[in-house]
Amino acid sequence: MKIGGHVSTAGGLNVAIDNAVKIGAEAIQIFASSPRSWNFSEPKEEDVSLFLEKANKFAISPVFLHGVYLVNLGNAVLLEKSINSLTQHMLVASSIHAKGVIFHCGSRKGFEFEEVLPQIADAIKEVLRSTPDDVSLIFENSAGMGSSIGSNFEEIEAIFSNVNNNRLGLCLDTQHCYASGYDLTKDEGVDLLISQIKPIGIEKILAVHANDSKVPFDAGVDRHENIGEGFIGIKGFEKIMAVEELSEVPFILEVPGFGKVRGPDEENVNRLKKIRLD
Ligand SMILES: [Zn+2]
Repeated sequence: MKIGGHVSTAGGLNVAIDNAVKIGAEAIQIFASSPRSWNFSEPKEEDVSLFLEKANKFAISPVFLHGVYLVNLGNAVLLEKSINSLTQHMLVASSIHAKGVIFHCGSRKGFEFEEVLPQIADAIKEVLRSTPDDVSLIFENSAGMGSSIGSNFEEIEAIFSNVNNNRLGLCLDTQHCYASGYDLTKDEGVDLLISQIKPIGIEKILAVHANDSKVPFDAGVDRHENIGEGFIGIKGFEKIMAVEELSEVPFILEVPGFGKVRGPDEENVNRLKKIRLD
């Protein structure tokens, strides 16, 4: 099991590898552009080749891109922008040999899930159709805030079976699972989660976002905490990381960190490395 983290690309994509090495991350997630804006500019060729060279040198793999937070496949007004943004990210992912693009599906505000399902499935199909075969589009489960889509695996299964494409992958966020009613600190919670993912396919899980939770079980709120400092706790991570089905899946931190610079740090990486079984 690889332990990784979301790292900054300030100064260029290739700088992300330096940042990974600094904290001991073995895998990474990065933004290809500001996550709070639709603005996008393609990375420079020199930056891409330097990124590939460094990733290879320090054996940082796999690499994931995270889509912008504005993506919303449940909203007709934002649909085209969302498809364009995901497509741009998928192309960058392919050029830097990333595994794929992790994205938040968005909100079905004002609609029932069944009403927005066809639109979501069509959008995902369109992104997959217009992007290279070597990258996956990776659906992240949500914490269930407001009318966010995909906070339970029945909904996610409906989306996966409608899209019916092997290039659609799954990212499990431990904090989102915990906040949306899967108590990962208990065997029953873990069993419920795994049994609900089985119809989708355990092999679809391409990444775990390893985050402790600032909010209690089933709070329905997306608030990440450092490993061991939240409601999941070290005991919870010991349980999650011992799940047989997840033993080959990279665990990627998206935590606030203990220092002044926000984001995953060496301490969080080390806490997970201490817990992993291999
Ligand atoms: Zn996440």
